[in-house]
Amino acid sequence: AGKLDLISKCIRTFPDFHTKGIPFKDIFPVLKDPKALAAVTDLFEEQVRRAYPQVDLIVGLDARGFLFGPLLAQRLGVGFAPIRKKGKLPGPTLSVAYSLEYAKAEAEMQEDAVSAGKKVLIVDDLLATGGTLYAACELIKRQKAEVLGCLVVELKYLNGSEKLQSTPVFSLIQY
Ligand code: 5GP
Repeated sequence: AGKLDLISKCIRTFPDFHTKGIPFKDIFPVLKDPKALAAVTDLFEEQVRRAYPQVDLIVGLDARGFLFGPLLAQRLGVGFAPIRKKGKLPGPTLSVAYSLEYAKAEAEMQEDAVSAGKKVLIVDDLLATGGTLYAACELIKRQKAEVLGCLVVELKYLNGSEKLQSTPVFSLIQY
């Protein structure tokens, strides 16, 4: 509980950032506190060693999944690959369109980022509606790789993980 307290104390809420009425969670203070950042990596690592020791690759989502994903990958001794917003990755890519609360978006992955049969864990800062993680799962499955599960710092809406159906979601904090 000590580590979780340390992390949750570092997440601030801004009531009207981006969209009026929707509480925006700011996770950057977690990175400002080295103990809180280490706690995130520790708890993710414990969960992976316990539940997914067979993992081959960590995939992080644009943009804040890039902050936590590589730290975890290094701890586990596996590689990291990004899924980015459309148009950011060079070379041959695959893309999946998805809808956000008030907009549409496209997620892209480099074709050689993951090979068939590999076991993948997806990392992001926060799960809200689950649309972004759902698109990420689709991209990985299209490469014939397997999604073992998703790790997020915070689950913002409890029903957000329903969209992911059979893919397990591990979150450190539930709002
Ligand atoms: P979803 O697709 O689950 O609705 O939204 C999740 C994506 O939007 C994540 O990539 C996450 O970074 C971003 N996001 C949505 N709401 C918030 C928020 O309150 N705080 C932060 N930091 N990111 C958010």
